[in-house]
Amino acid sequence: PNYVFEFAEGNKDLKDLLGGKGANLAEMTNLGLPVPPGFTITTDACRHYLAHGRLPDGLDAEIDEKLRSLEKSMGKRLGQADDPLLVSVRSGAKFSMPGMMETVLNIGLNDDSVRGLAAQAGDDRFAWDSYRRLIQMFGKTVQGIEGELFEDAIDDVKQAKGVRNDLDLDADDYKALVDRFKAIVREATGAEFPADPRTQMRLAVNAVFDSWNAPRAVLYRRQERIPTDLGTAVNVCAMVFGNLGMDSGTGVAFTRDPATGQQGIYGDYLQNAQGEDVVAGVRNTVPLADLERVDAAAYAELLHIMETLENHYRDLCDIEFTIERGKLWMLQTRVGKRTAAAAFRIANQLVDQGVITLAEAVSRVTGDQLAQLMFPRFDHAAERHRLGSGMNASPGAAVGKAVFDSYTAIKWSRSGEDVILCRRETNPDDLEGMISATGILTSRGGKTSHAAVVARGMGKTCVCGAEELDIDTKNRRLTAPGGEVIEEGDVISIDGTSGEVFLGEVPVVASPVVRYFDGEVDPASDEADELVRNVHRFMQYSDAARRMNVRANADNAEDAARARRMGAQGIGLCRTEHMFLGDRRQLVERLILADTEKEQDESLAALLPLQRDDFWGVFEAMDGLPVTVRLLDPPLHEFLPDITELSVRVAVAEARGEKQEGDLRLLQAVHKLHEQNPMLGLRGVRLGLVVPGLFTMQVRAIAQAAADRIKAGGRPRPEIMIPLVGTVQELEIIRDESLRVLREVGAEFGVELDFPIGTMIELPRAALTAGQIAENAEFFSFGTNDLTQTVWGFSRDDVEASFFSAYLERGVFGVSPFESIDVDGVGRLIKIAVEEGRAARPGIKLGICGEHGGDPWSVRFFHQVGLDYVSCSPFRVPVARLEAGRAAA
Ligand code: PEP
Ligand code: MG
Repeated sequence: PNYVFEFAEGNKDLKDLLGGKGANLAEMTNLGLPVPPGFTITTDACRHYLAHGRLPDGLDAEIDEKLRSLEKSMGKRLGQADDPLLVSVRSGAKFSMPGMMETVLNIGLNDDSVRGLAAQAGDDRFAWDSYRRLIQMFGKTVQGIEGELFEDAIDDVKQAKGVRNDLDLDADDYKALVDRFKAIVREATGAEFPADPRTQMRLAVNAVFDSWNAPRAVLYRRQERIPTDLGTAVNVCAMVFGNLGMDSGTGVAFTRDPATGQQGIYGDYLQNAQGEDVVAGVRNTVPLADLERVDAAAYAELLHIMETLENHYRDLCDIEFTIERGKLWMLQTRVGKRTAAAAFRIANQLVDQGVITLAEAVSRVTGDQLAQLMFPRFDHAAERHRLGSGMNASPGAAVGKAVFDSYTAIKWSRSGEDVILCRRETNPDDLEGMISATGILTSRGGKTSHAAVVARGMGKTCVCGAEELDIDTKNRRLTAPGGEVIEEGDVISIDGTSGEVFLGEVPVVASPVVRYFDGEVDPASDEADELVRNVHRFMQYSDAARRMNVRANADNAEDAARARRMGAQGIGLCRTEHMFLGDRRQLVERLILADTEKEQDESLAALLPLQRDDFWGVFEAMDGLPVTVRLLDPPLHEFLPDITELSVRVAVAEARGEKQEGDLRLLQAVHKLHEQNPMLGLRGVRLGLVVPGLFTMQVRAIAQAAADRIKAGGRPRPEIMIPLVGTVQELEIIRDESLRVLREVGAEFGVELDFPIGTMIELPRAALTAGQIAENAEFFSFGTNDLTQTVWGFSRDDVEASFFSAYLERGVFGVSPFESIDVDGVGRLIKIAVEEGRAARPGIKLGICGEHGGDPWSVRFFHQVGLDYVSCSPFRVPVARLEAGRAAA
């Protein structure tokens, strides 16, 4: 097979083979845009290299051949002493991936060719600057040498000279730096910096391939669910130079504002600089618009190209470009990352402009993005102490303790603290710290800096380039222009929407999107802003497109009403145990302690009207819509005092010679009910079978409330759900009793009470015997919390705080299976249960009510597996509606 393709041979749809960067370079080449010539080594070659530990046979020869053709078109050879061709080597996987080796520039320079380059360019300073960049980048990314060693050496030279800016260094300074850098390489690797250009290239290519498995890249892939076996491509491209004087430079551009979605030209430009300088924030960039002043012709051409690209890709593009002595070159483009608000705005604008269909627009926004738009914002009316501001790189309102390094961010967040990671700038080493932080604040770099790009990608609040704040990571403190000093651990608030930074905790208010969902803002009114109107439009589309219904988990009238406003089409889980708390605990206590049947009946009789009233309110709020009421699920000891506390109380009383009859009896009961593994103990349907009258009382309360509602003209639609069923026999017994109660109450009230009775599927055995269970169940609701717990053998109450961080770190899984459905294990059981349940009872209603019902990625799976509805917390209902629509579209 061919492993190497010239840019002109590819196109944008070959991302699997050429990676995103390679495919888009090819596309731009074929669009006739000014792309320097080059070639792409395919992901096939990478996969071979990773699988066999060596490059595939023939690859070297193929690279040589393409290199020769590149040399021919450029009229010079790689590293040629009197006039060297230089190349860049850049990674480029299908998905852009922080954490991988990115770029080595200026390959082909050595002690000889640096002189040729200087002579050709007529610029010594440029040549030696380029050479030191090669050693620095090569040393850092290919040879794994600590980057700070190089940076410190530059700082030393600057300090000795008494200058601060790299533009103040001259050819001799760079010459000295080259010697210093070579010494650093020698000390770190025990060998000389490789002078042979082809060797430089080979090592760089291998390093790109190796970096696919760098820990940071692995971590990122798990988080983003990028398959581990894709591999990366490598792009080798003839160098063009942005560091050839003030008529040269390099920049990054967006065809729309990636923070707000606003139409217009956005980006950063840096004169006399090369590639990484912009992103690394070594000098402060100027806004792209300033380029017009510096080089009107190049600016005009750039605008034209940006328009071409946006029309061609039909979406926001981001671009890297270089200007070499007035000539514009395109180095990269891709459909750019953007904030949630920008995603909604851009997709909507493109529909209005007739560029894309509404269906396409909805496919371009995600449930996660919608969830971000629902986050609270800082209250502008609140009193706030402003420390300073930077750029609004990624929106949101984040409050947390200031920390100044990633290690502390990770450590503190593990112990449950919210932290704001404060850095001068971030780099790929900070990835894990950024993931664990609530917000990110930097004092250097623009909207295209590492911090900004990564934060936007993760949907994390970020303020970048807050130059007026002095972030001193060595002494772990931040000093504001007003003189305020923030030490590590002090609370600050950062507003990623405005770019402002505040002292202490600023109060938050509901987002307008939530107010819209809550029915407080009419999307047709003037009060609705553009974002609300966009969201409304997309929700309408999704609601029409989706096959699955969305219900809410709610157990009181208020939550039910709110869920309904948010678009819930019923209640998928009403947890009745929540009705047994507070004052009612005593009644439950009495029930548990009852010695005689009479006492037991009395306490049940006392609970009945209370439950009935609860149900009445919920049925009223959800009138006309189904309400799945689950009978009591948790172990009874949860309603009793803590065993240790109670033992102490009794012991103290005894020591005082007092006798507390009640406590003693209670203690005995607690002992009797004590279980080593309560989650696997006496709970769910098992309670219904061994505590006489408990479930029938609950069914009676449901039936009476429903009968009352019917009499009052309502349309109650309760569904009675039995939890933790493992075998059909359990269900059969409870079902028969429940049907009897429904008949009795129906006769009493003179109404017909024909309500479905079904079960949760939350034990592996239930899933595996779903065919049998379906004979006695009119519906299934998958309890994916317990199902995950029992399939994995993970205690849902313990593992996330105990060893999950280690599991995530070691890469056992990228996301907790309690958060996002484990398709291979838990998902497989769901599939089996769906198939066998439907086979046994065609038309059986199938839903899911575990936490996964509000997780966008899981909603997609539930759609695919054919469920009729998902049920989630009221706030997640809009997210599930959107995601279910996207899944069906
Ligand atoms: C479940 O187990 O998924 C469920 C919804 O029930 P609970 O969380 O109340 O155990
Ligand atoms: Mg459960």
